[in-house]
Amino acid sequence: TTAVPNIDGPIYNTEEEEEEEGVVDLASNSLLNKLIHQSLVVSSHQVEVLQKDPSSPLYSVKTFEELRLKKELLKGIYAMGFNRPSKIQEMALPMMLAYPPQNLIAQSQSGTGKTAAFVLAMLSRVNALELFPQCLCLAPTYELALQTGHVVERMGKFCADVQVIYAIRGNLISRGSDITKQIVIGTPGTVLDWCFKRKLIDLTKIRVFVLDEADVMIDTQGFSDQSIRIQRALPSECQMLLFSATFEDSVWRFARQIVPDPNVIKLRKEELTLSNIQQYYMLCENRKDKYQALCNVYGGITIGQAIIFCQTRRNAKWLTLEMMQDGHQVSLLSGELTVEQRASIIQRFRDGKEKVLITTNVCARGIDVKQVTIVVNFDLPIKQTQEPDYETYLHRIGRTGRFGKKGLAFNMIEVDKLPLLKKIQDHFNSNIKQLDPKDLDEIE
Ligand code: ADP
Repeated sequence: TTAVPNIDGPIYNTEEEEEEEGVVDLASNSLLNKLIHQSLVVSSHQVEVLQKDPSSPLYSVKTFEELRLKKELLKGIYAMGFNRPSKIQEMALPMMLAYPPQNLIAQSQSGTGKTAAFVLAMLSRVNALELFPQCLCLAPTYELALQTGHVVERMGKFCADVQVIYAIRGNLISRGSDITKQIVIGTPGTVLDWCFKRKLIDLTKIRVFVLDEADVMIDTQGFSDQSIRIQRALPSECQMLLFSATFEDSVWRFARQIVPDPNVIKLRKEELTLSNIQQYYMLCENRKDKYQALCNVYGGITIGQAIIFCQTRRNAKWLTLEMMQDGHQVSLLSGELTVEQRASIIQRFRDGKEKVLITTNVCARGIDVKQVTIVVNFDLPIKQTQEPDYETYLHRIGRTGRFGKKGLAFNMIEVDKLPLLKKIQDHFNSNIKQLDPKDLDEIE
């Protein structure tokens, strides 16, 4: 492995304090998801499969043994603690490992086992004795490429002499030297450069081509075109695999452009619901008042862990300081932190090291902390148009039906925000009850 400095640009944003925190870029979110998903995300939905040849039998596997993998590879899988294939892997792996190789487009949310699946495919097709690039994986950022590389290293731990190289800006390969590593993981621009300008990679020798995070990829200027240029130079027998967490039309069009004759696998996301959440609101005059109401809630009911959402970074900071001064153990998660810092704060919170997490919109997505008993909207989520942000409200408070533990949600509302709350209530057709901040006996 080659360690290189990250010069692909910082991944924290530099918004002003006062500004409401917007949606962080897709690549950072994706990386955050990778860093915080230490185990599989399970889905109760069925995997949908569309075969390129509908008449051919559909294989699925319930064990890794059925895949007849090289024994070093099987050993690597078990060493990672995997006992059986994930839902998506049950269907995807037989297709990915079939002979002759088949192309695949697969979509499922982050954490469902896509990376592990294509890493397995790459490792199973690599020939360790041949010292040139045979598998090529495109990723949207260096950090994401590195995450995939780590998986290759862990899963391939017992595959002697299989090595990874990162084709990313700043990784300097001296002129005239050959790449002897079998697996190349990199960003489209640098890969293109290494293939065509510097002739470090002979694309005609690539057996497996992976395009990971397709939705993030098309979000980045130039990456689609560069990826397509790379794909066009691959031999026709090269296996092409494309993965995406989401599947809007634009992703689908790109996928079809880049993967000829694909099998398609999709796993629907678990839906969020408010039906198992008791929602309350408290009328407050101002910020101090909101804080007092919060303290009452906090003192009045037995709380496991709580997440508190603020609309601005400034409010979040203020609240964090207030709570700290009152002796609470809180941590603040905000968009100015690096993805790694955010991941570590989330991890500490998950481990129960802090009871309260204060955060802004940036961090609302992608965190599902199941042990959280209450969620507080210190500010309601509002769009720039001054309309309620229903989607964010759902993401903050909603839970998947399957983890049906009851939750409590509190909204701290200034009088002038009351119409917004009513809109939210109507939108979700759910009841948000008023609560007297001084009398919490009404909580069910
Ligand atoms: P995705 O690429 O869809 O985000 P990953 O492949 O990164 O998903 O898997 C998410 C998490 O689940 C990782 O921590 C990974 O090690 C783990 N994982 C993947 N496949 C399995 C499996 N078959 N059994 C147990 N854990 C798995």
